[in-house]
Amino acid sequence: MSIELPEALILANQMKEVLIGKQFESYHIQNYERMQKVGFLNKNIKDFDQLLNGKITSVVARGNVIRVELENNMNLLIAPEYGGEILYHKDDKGITKNYHLKIQFSDNTSLTVRIKSMGCILALKNGELYDSYMYKRDFLRAISPIEDEFTFERFSKEIRVLNRNLKGILVGKDAILVGISNSAFQDIIYRAKLFPKKKGSELNMDEIKSLFKAINTLIHERMELGGKNLFIDLYAQKGKYNPAMGPNMKGKNCSECGSGIEKMSFGGGQVYLCPRCQEY
Ligand SMILES: [Zn+2]
Repeated sequence: MSIELPEALILANQMKEVLIGKQFESYHIQNYERMQKVGFLNKNIKDFDQLLNGKITSVVARGNVIRVELENNMNLLIAPEYGGEILYHKDDKGITKNYHLKIQFSDNTSLTVRIKSMGCILALKNGELYDSYMYKRDFLRAISPIEDEFTFERFSKEIRVLNRNLKGILVGKDAILVGISNSAFQDIIYRAKLFPKKKGSELNMDEIKSLFKAINTLIHERMELGGKNLFIDLYAQKGKYNPAMGPNMKGKNCSECGSGIEKMSFGGGQVYLCPRCQEY
């Protein structure tokens, strides 16, 4: 389960509605050693002290990353990329112990954050944001598919000169877009009927059009349906978007052509695909 652009945006919008103006009163961090070891959490837990008494002035998402900005030049950067939960609580009833970070606000409401796999929870000063890999990757480079700059003209111009495969073009730190991880990638190239190893420079205009359309469709459908089916929002509501392709299609047949769905190891992950619709 991944939290990609649509889910990060759903969460940020909900957080914006309910958290602006709230003041950090206390926090509790637990079971974080594993995350700390790989740099997903501040090396010094005391860094979180700097959030205290700060009031939230904004919450924005770009790519898969959510930035909660405080008036005291501090930020809480959250990216539950490979699964996680950010939950809002009106009171302490119903809060399970199953979180990494709990923030108590001065009005006794709280926020809990749990990272299930890869992802980050970082307390950073404004100037320290630039040291964060995830902030740099998602806030400081490439375009976002929901921004006005994401036009077909720009996309086609960029992609058709790239001599690398579609995964590297759409996913990761060198991608030309932010907000797409392996999960959305499988879904997008299946919808566009493209083989994952195909290079940007090998695409014809119709293929680029299909890819552009698939990216837009996926992002907007996922937003409209409240995120992917395994995602839960700030109020623990489940998303209703079922991926057209991904691990959920294991052992099933393609709805377009009836071929058995196959799994391929590729680019540091698994890609499910239809061997007929997505032939090289
Ligand atoms: Zn097929």
